[in-house]
Amino acid sequence: MTRRDLRVVVAGGGVAGLEALLALRSFAGHSVELILVTPDDDFVYRPLEVVEPFDPRAMVRVPWQRIAADLAVGHRRAGAQEVDLDGNRLRTTTAGELSFDVLIVATGATPRPAIPGGITVGAPGATERLRHLLGTLRAGHIRRLAFVVPPGVTWSLPLYELALLTARFAREAKQEVDLSVATAESEPLEVFGSGAGETVRELLDDSSVRLATNGLVQRRVGERTWLEPPAGPRADAVVAMARLAGPYLRGLPADGDGFLTVDEHGRVEGESDVYAAGDATSFAVKQGGLAAQQAEAVASEIARRAGAEVEARRFKPVLRAMLLTGEAPRYLRVALTAAASRPERSDQSPWWPPVKIVGRHLAPYLAGHVDWVAPA
Ligand SMILES: Cc1cc2nc3c(=O)[nH]c(=O)nc-3n(C[C@H](O)[C@H](O)[C@H](O)COP(=O)(O)OP(=O)(O)OC[C@H]3O[C@@H](n4cnc5c(N)ncnc54)[C@H](O)[C@@H]3O)c2cc1C
Repeated sequence: MTRRDLRVVVAGGGVAGLEALLALRSFAGHSVELILVTPDDDFVYRPLEVVEPFDPRAMVRVPWQRIAADLAVGHRRAGAQEVDLDGNRLRTTTAGELSFDVLIVATGATPRPAIPGGITVGAPGATERLRHLLGTLRAGHIRRLAFVVPPGVTWSLPLYELALLTARFAREAKQEVDLSVATAESEPLEVFGSGAGETVRELLDDSSVRLATNGLVQRRVGERTWLEPPAGPRADAVVAMARLAGPYLRGLPADGDGFLTVDEHGRVEGESDVYAAGDATSFAVKQGGLAAQQAEAVASEIARRAGAEVEARRFKPVLRAMLLTGEAPRYLRVALTAAASRPERSDQSPWWPPVKIVGRHLAPYLAGHVDWVAPA
């Protein structure tokens, strides 16, 4: 095989997919052929899904057609369906079968509702349902609104942002609404360790949002189980983070929840030509910055296979968050490696550009291609 022949198929056009494509072009130039398989027309900047119900102009979408032209990527508008590991072929929904030398699975996770009847953050249709909820609130028909972080959710930040932005919205609409957060975490933003929780507690307190930690009750009747916020007045509406399931891509080994287990280079356990990055992997924290870090590690490894002289970048997770508060954003950072660092908090962004998804290649690329509207 010549270097030029290395054919990399990327399945999934989210954060991990985009970072992998950008990093591969940067590390390996045109010594790799890049094919993207995704059903999406646009790259969607998902963190802004919390702002979109309040201000649709803030959402960022970049057409894949434009990115694909920029990076010389072949875009197949289709879903990945099944992987034939013996033949190195990917079966797709509408683009037939694609052969690959290397496959990167970046198909994300599937959001599952945690609270029956609630609005599930990150699920299809959530933005429209949240916008409708805000309209109902403005009209004075919502008196009690609960925000819920179910057990097993490691990335809870969007829920706190929604609670804080809703508090501001209610103030501006001059509506008295009893707002509460019930989280299964022992502290808000538990994943950051001690310190971050304090920041969130203060912000919620200043906005008169009640907080209950360790605060969900599991109910069971017969075969059915569900979660409820703790005893207290029933809410008129509930907004909850999704529980995430893996992609269950046929032909690939997966853990019990359908996620792909990978090593520090992103290689899928037991496979030589299949890599995975982002929410599709079994790494516990499902977050955009981490998805980008994993994708970069994968890209460096594949670029080396293609003969590029690039340093191997192992996945050493560092969590960075820009928390939208309704006022000035706050910034949090912590290393999740074995020798975990102490969390850092600040009012100024410690990274540049000051964005919500910190990806080495993706952040500057989007900064140069998007007209950002300042988030709320
Ligand atoms: C409301 C909200 C707010 C968030 N805020 C932040 C934040 O502030 N900071 C942060 O870092 N992270 C944030 N996150 C998390 C972050 O968005 C995700 O962790 C990140 O998008 C994961 O990237 P990914 O590429 O693995 O998956 P995704 O971004 O979900 O992308 C997966 C892609 O694969 C495509 N796909 C699915 N199935 C298939 C298939 N079979 N074949 C081909 N393509 C497929 C999907 O259409 C999608 O384009 C937030 C998430 C939500 C929902």
